[in-house]
Amino acid sequence: MPEYARLRTALAAGEDDRLILDLDGIEAQYDALVGELPGVAVRFAMKACPVDEVLATLAARGAGFDAAGPQEIAQALRTGVPVERIHYGNTIKSDRQIAEAHRLGVRDFATDSLADLAAIAAHAPGARVFCRLATTGEGALWGLSRKFGCSPEDALRILEAARASGLTPAGLSVHVGSQQLTSEAWQNALDTLATVIEEAGRHGIRLDHVNLGGGLPALGALDRSGRPLDPPLDKMFTVIREGVQRLREVSGGPLDVLIEPGRHLVADHGAIRAHVTRLTERQQLDGGRAYWLYLSCGKFNGLYEMDELRYRLEFPGRAGAPTVPAVVAGPTCDSDDAFADDGPGMQVPRDAASGDQVWVLSCGAYSTAYTTQGFNGFPPLPYSCVRTGAADAPATTGAAPKES
Ligand SMILES: *Cc1c(COP(=O)(O)O)cnc(C)c1O
Repeated sequence: MPEYARLRTALAAGEDDRLILDLDGIEAQYDALVGELPGVAVRFAMKACPVDEVLATLAARGAGFDAAGPQEIAQALRTGVPVERIHYGNTIKSDRQIAEAHRLGVRDFATDSLADLAAIAAHAPGARVFCRLATTGEGALWGLSRKFGCSPEDALRILEAARASGLTPAGLSVHVGSQQLTSEAWQNALDTLATVIEEAGRHGIRLDHVNLGGGLPALGALDRSGRPLDPPLDKMFTVIREGVQRLREVSGGPLDVLIEPGRHLVADHGAIRAHVTRLTERQQLDGGRAYWLYLSCGKFNGLYEMDELRYRLEFPGRAGAPTVPAVVAGPTCDSDDAFADDGPGMQVPRDAASGDQVWVLSCGAYSTAYTTQGFNGFPPLPYSCVRTGAADAPATTGAAPKES
């Protein structure tokens, strides 16, 4: 279980609805990851939390960035990180996007098809490419399968084509699926990587770059029925350490190993201060009666991932108050704007009243960037970055990005 005490202090210090991001917590999470995976370089997957203060904090700590296009590359560069620590990790890119990334100085490109590779050769001549291998996504809440990655056979074709077109066939990447809950998925991915590295070697291609992708879990998330997900993080790290050791053995030379976590670094260090809009009790179509708790934030302003998980809720000052099980939902006129309710409702105070504070924990990942412009008129949630560990450090505040 994550330690929420310092975040609670920050949540209690204000009144309005906002996302609070704890930069000290994110730093500590980064340090812990580097400690678990010595020799593995971290490239933060920006889409999980593209907030300038968070990116600058991670860059100052030594992280680089996995960027999905020229806009993210430009945002990453604004942190002052050297461009060598940024790669273009999206296999989906137009000619113009490739040329722009190349102009910005990026030299490492993910790919998974001959068409994309030909475009990289044309618009980023001389670049290094790494081929993304498909995974099943099994065991993950969001599988990221099918849309990305290629078979080992295609990977070899693509790496050979890279060599033939003047690019450097540098390496391989995978993504085991987001919020991956099993260590077996990591084992399978590492086994595949080792096999393809060996096979590439037999084709005269020595790969010096392996990118283990994202997928490391948030620890505080709840499943669709409200149970803690409890991912076996220690086991995952053991599997990854042993797998990396094996990759170094089969690679036949120096090997750069990267990992690009998104949610793992930020999810448990962000929380939303929201309010109760209304608690209602109504007869449902099946004849039964149910409580519904409508919050001031939901799928379109902070809680985008409510399709696959539930967020921990706290009602400050209400510990020990009588509760009722309720379906939890956001404030908009969209029925998707509700927690997946595969199981019993969440326990909420029976006399929750409009305006009461609600704290939503473990929502630092995939919250700001998935906010709509103002669906139903509900504005993007503002955010604050705080330094919970350093009492004197001032908080910086900003509005969620809304104008380009
Ligand atoms: C989204 C993404 C990540 C981060 O995924 P998490 O599950 O948040 O760790 C990493 N790499 C790539 C290429 C991605 O698209």
